This record gives sequence, structure tokens and C-alpha cells, in this order.
Amino acid sequence: MFKVNEDYLKLRGSYLFSNIGKKVNTFAAEHPDASIIKMGIGDVTQPLVPAIINSLHDAVDEMGHIETFRGYAPDLGYEFLRKAIADNDYKARDCQIEADEIFISDGAKCDSGNIQEIFAKDNKIAVCDPVYPVYVDTNVMAGRTGSFDEKSETWSDVIYMPCTEATNFAPELPKETPDLIYLCFPNNPTGSTITKAQLQEWVDYANKVGAVIIYDAAYEAYISEKDVPHTIFECEGARTCAIELRSFSKNAGFTGTRLGATVIPKDLKSGDVMLHSLWARRHGTKYNGAPYIIQRAGEAVYSPEGKAQLKDQVAYYMNNAKCIMEGLASAGFSVSGGVNAPYIWMKTPDKMTSWQFFDYLLEKANVVGTPGSGFGPSGEGYFRLTAFNTYENTVEAIKRMQKL
Ligand SMILES: *Cc1c(COP(=O)(O)O)cnc(C)c1O
Repeated sequence: MFKVNEDYLKLRGSYLFSNIGKKVNTFAAEHPDASIIKMGIGDVTQPLVPAIINSLHDAVDEMGHIETFRGYAPDLGYEFLRKAIADNDYKARDCQIEADEIFISDGAKCDSGNIQEIFAKDNKIAVCDPVYPVYVDTNVMAGRTGSFDEKSETWSDVIYMPCTEATNFAPELPKETPDLIYLCFPNNPTGSTITKAQLQEWVDYANKVGAVIIYDAAYEAYISEKDVPHTIFECEGARTCAIELRSFSKNAGFTGTRLGATVIPKDLKSGDVMLHSLWARRHGTKYNGAPYIIQRAGEAVYSPEGKAQLKDQVAYYMNNAKCIMEGLASAGFSVSGGVNAPYIWMKTPDKMTSWQFFDYLLEKANVVGTPGSGFGPSGEGYFRLTAFNTYENTVEAIKRMQKL
């Protein structure tokens, strides 16, 4: 008789966004005339820019001719894309990362889940609280998290690093020593960032205690302030302690197109085992690479036209963020984030819980956001709004919230 992977049974019942979906559907069914504005899920709305569409068309045509048809992609990604990433995201910032240290994939969510496979099961993970749920849930599936305590809403074998108002929503170095540290800046859900000097402290700490930092840079393109690092490899010593996850989803609208990249420097070793070799082996064995057509689309992100068009696209979302920040602040709400990230982290008014405010906002303003408590216990009493809707809807939503 077969047995299932019992670690899956430990996962927390209902996923945050399915809960939200159910509540919104019920409300919509009961109020068919309500025009609901969704500022909940972190998904982009603007179409792919022309430079990317042109590149996609060209690549599709290539696939239709025997001279230019491509079969399986190289396991680790096409050289043209790895080189474009190395040149533009690293060399241009004086970071020493070579094209062959970059692994192309179908997204950072998958990589952030898969990467823990190359680490021993008894490694201890540290995560921010609140946190992008994928980091924790994938470790639950792997049996690395111990048991869940209903009261504290935490896993027994996970080190939580609270990110609160007192620390500007940044984590502090943990008291207990972790093996794997998940960091994401600019952050989802809080929209917060840390300075290069602060990130350097994490790199120094990881090198000192022999930990690996898994650094999620999915929102790098939204950084507007000068002293916020665009990659962990701006920090000295990161080559011996950091893996960086990159995504084309939020900077270039690839949430439905799927493309990402993971950087593992060859200096990152456990004894004489390079993590680079393990990940290369995993990629080669379990993965056939992102589609050629999509990798060509990714290359266009780095063309002069692509860069200019995407700068405008990011500016469009960040203008929404500004509108949310200013509109809510002027109405007396306490808001943070929104400057280097498309997320606004607001404190719920009148000591409402996150879910109470969710219901209140849906009912009174027909606006949907995400309860902060869904991202971890320190998210209780907070609420996340995203800047990914259209400008018109964003303005309308804020107008309604100002009347609450
Ligand atoms: C949206 C998001 C990603 C992107 O994942 P993809 O699989 O590349 O779409 C990664 N990390 C965080 C924290 C995100 O919010």
C-alpha cells in the first residue's frame, strides 16, 4: 500500500489567497452591483512592452523554420540571456558575477522552493516575519520545520525574525544561529528595504557563522533610493555566502510568461563541495530549461528599447504607489513601504485585526487588500495594498478609503 509524504499533511489548511477569493466571491454574489477594486494579489496588470512582444514574435518565427528551429534548451540557460544578465545586472554595478554562475529558470517562486533541495534536511532556516509564504511552506513540504503551534502560529524548528515598526520593518540578526537565511528586499509584503551597510552586516554574519543567505531580489527594479542595494553581490564577501534569486515577473510583467534566474557563485562551498555543482546537477536532471521563445523575450528586457519601456512601466506602478501613500497618509492612516516597492503596508485603524479590516474595507469601500496576519504573526494589525492596479482604479479606491 502506498503512503503519502506526510509532511504535506502538516501544511496549514487554507492558503491565504484562496480564503480571500472565497470572501470576495461571496460578497460579489450578495452585492451584484458593487464595483469591487482588487488591490490584493501581487500580480502585474500592464501588458508586455513592445520590445518584448517583438522579440517574442521573432522567436516564434524562428521556431517555424528548419534552419532556426530549436529543440531542448541548454540545461542552464542560453548563453545570450546569461550574458545579458551578467553584464546588465552585475558587471554594470561592479559586481563580480560571471555568466556561468547564472542559472535560467521559469521563475523565482519555483527556485525559492526548489533551492532547499540541495541542503541537508536538518539545516535550520530563518525567515522574516511577516514573510512571503513560499519560503516556509516549501520547507514544511521538505520536513524541515518541526510542528506548528496554533497559539503562536509558528513552526517549532523555524527561526522567526520579527520585522516591526520599531525596526523599520527590517529583521535583526537572530539570537539562535541559522543555516539558511531567507531575505527579500525590497520586501513583499511590507515594501521595506535595508541599506547596503545593513545588508553588509548580514553578509558578514553569514560568513562568520557559516550560513547561506537566499536573497530574493524580485523587486529590485522598483528601487528608487540611492543607498538601497540592487543585488546582494554589491556587498563584500557575498560570493562565499549568498545565492540570489531573480525574477522577470515584477520588473517586466512576466508573471504569466514565466522566467527567472538564480545566481550561485562558484566560491560558495561546504567543505570542497560547490553549491554551484549541486544546483547544476539538479537543473540538468530535473529541468529542461525555460523555453527558447521566452528566453529571447527575457533578452529584450536588456535592450535599449526594452529598458526604456520598462522604466516607464515601473514608473506607472510607482505612481500608483505614491497616490496610495499620499492619499492614505492625508486621511490619517499610518502607511509604510511604497517608495522602493509596489507594496504599501498600512496599519489597520482602531486596533482592528487584519481580517476585521479586510471585511470592513470590502463592505464599506468595496476594496480588496491582503490581511497582514496571513504573512505571519507579526503581520497582525497590518494590511497590504498593491500598486499593480490601473491608475484609474487606484485613484478611485483611495477616494473611497478617504471617505471611511
Ligand atoms: C512575485 C514574487 C516572486 C516572483 O516569482 P516568479 O516565480 O518569478 O513569478 C518572487 N519572490 C517574491 C517575494 C515575490 O513576491
